[in-house]
Amino acid sequence: QNVKVFSELRAFERAYTRGPQLGLGAFAKVFMGTHKASGQEYAIKKIDRSKMVWGDRDALEDEINNLILVRDGPNIVQLYEVYEEKSHCFLVMGLLRGGELFDRILEQKTFTEPQARGCCRGLLTGLAYMHAKRVAHRDLKPENLLLMDHQNSISEDTIADQIKLADFGFAKKVKTENGCRTLCGTPGYLAPEILERFPAYDTKCDLWSVGVIIFLLLGGYLPFEDEDEDKVFEKTREGQYYFHPTYWKSISAEAKQFVTHLLTVNPRKRFSSEEALKATWMTSRRLDNDMSE
Ligand code: ADP
Ligand code: MG
Repeated sequence: QNVKVFSELRAFERAYTRGPQLGLGAFAKVFMGTHKASGQEYAIKKIDRSKMVWGDRDALEDEINNLILVRDGPNIVQLYEVYEEKSHCFLVMGLLRGGELFDRILEQKTFTEPQARGCCRGLLTGLAYMHAKRVAHRDLKPENLLLMDHQNSISEDTIADQIKLADFGFAKKVKTENGCRTLCGTPGYLAPEILERFPAYDTKCDLWSVGVIIFLLLGGYLPFEDEDEDKVFEKTREGQYYFHPTYWKSISAEAKQFVTHLLTVNPRKRFSSEEALKATWMTSRRLDNDMSE
């Protein structure tokens, strides 16, 4: 089924009722919306175009086009309709009621190894699909990873199914010959090659961010952290992080090895999403779950 694009004035208001707000960003407000005709609930991302300069407008076009390209993939937020009005744009997306992985981390502090692995498998499955289409996300972080339902104790397989990549605001189709040069992403999560403007970077930048996220889930703290942003960048460039024994003593060697393969400064030596899916830690599932039962 194709994404329907509407451009008539006030078409969105005619079709949907506005519900409570779900999230807030720089140019966007996300709220719940009910489709009047069907009663079906969706997440609506309302993007304000009036404050945008031309570069932002290009980015909005990229966000929509890239999401259209990958939206049917596994572990990726669905996009159903786009309403383009003069000052606003509305994206009608699948409603992910479980909220941000970010809030789940705050609640839980750390994840068990099987939970972190489930999370990781979901992320990598979505990324493998995107990367095969040469689309890089470029802003992976717990605020942009959403869960379908809110559940208290979530199992490895459930979380692998339920986690979805969202916020395609920085997503970019990477041209094989040129790669990307834009400095974007979030300090602490962005890959070292994004900081080095040369040579260009590609979809591997997302694997670095996955490394940071899994590190955070298992260790309970960020690998590259400092009050001073420049220090964060310096540590990122040098790949300078530390498995602090207090937090990592009960984590398996396979998990640490896995994180190390993602937090590898040279993108050519870093795991790709396909390689990561086949890594020992990712496939050591049965063993670990049996031990915890
Ligand atoms: P921004 O580009 O402004 O960061 P996002 O697309 O990340 O916008 O959305 C902002 C927040 O809105 C998210 O972090 C999340 O909390 C919420 N949100 C976004 N999409 C959905 C969705 N499909 N279902 C539920 N909540 C969502
Ligand atoms: Mg976001």
